[in-house]
Amino acid sequence: METKIGIGYDSHKFVEGRKLFLGGVEIPYAFGLFAHSDGDVLIHALIDAILGALNLGDIGMFFPDTDPQYKDIRSTILLQKIPDLLSEKNAEIINIDSVLMLEAPKISPYIAEMKDTLSQVLKIQKAQISIKAKTNEGMGFVGKKEGIASIVVVLIRIK
Ligand code: MG
Repeated sequence: METKIGIGYDSHKFVEGRKLFLGGVEIPYAFGLFAHSDGDVLIHALIDAILGALNLGDIGMFFPDTDPQYKDIRSTILLQKIPDLLSEKNAEIINIDSVLMLEAPKISPYIAEMKDTLSQVLKIQKAQISIKAKTNEGMGFVGKKEGIASIVVVLIRIK
């Protein structure tokens, strides 16, 4: 048995006229995130972390933002491809730890639902997923409420 670690990072800027999705959950807010897909930074960083652990490249190689089939796609649909990729590599997730960096909106009321959603899509237990939110104390693009960033670390086991 072998263990592998992966890290993922993503950020998107706020724009008017789009819904906000984080961790697969729609969150009521005045802005959404600008992206080819729904802009779910947590799921994008999560996919990159898993692809990194498997040494399979990055999200842009699997789901190019030039491909019309991914226009405005829910990131949960992209994440649905991950369990098959893991099993092809005889890999399974041990645990996921993540940070969402955002000044607003407050997301603590939605974290349980994010864990539910992500655990169902990835076919793992909720207890294997940690999601934390941090502000940036007013500094930089996060602090100025220009957008949201996320970092995810995943540990996998190769059977
Ligand atoms: Mg992204």
